[in-house]
Amino acid sequence: MSDPDGFALDNEDEFLLNIDQTPLCPRCETRTKMVVRFSSSWKNGRAEEVPGLKEVVLCAACDHADPAAAELLALFTVDEGVTTSNMEMLGSLSAAWVESVRQRTVDEELLADEHERWLQGKL
Ligand SMILES: [Zn+2]
Repeated sequence: MSDPDGFALDNEDEFLLNIDQTPLCPRCETRTKMVVRFSSSWKNGRAEEVPGLKEVVLCAACDHADPAAAELLALFTVDEGVTTSNMEMLGSLSAAWVESVRQRTVDEELLADEHERWLQGKL
């Protein structure tokens, strides 16, 4: 489960995270700690499901107020940083953070649609 650019995690809500090559924060322009890509579909004008990919960055300066991000950021501030010993922790904290990001960025319409499908027992 590793590749030259970082590493991939497989779980039911698949996402890819990279802590080696991170972009600058679009908000404060400092180097981010982590970049995560996850699949996120949306509906086009004809109500067709369009598979998409979202990319979010974890910024120490901007995201520390978010509880899920704060826990994750704490991992990067320990002396050793992220190592094989806390990789598992990184994975589970990342999953929680990605989930909170998903919920924050999900569009209202999609949410209503998912709720509808959930009510119909399709999710
Ligand atoms: Zn920032």
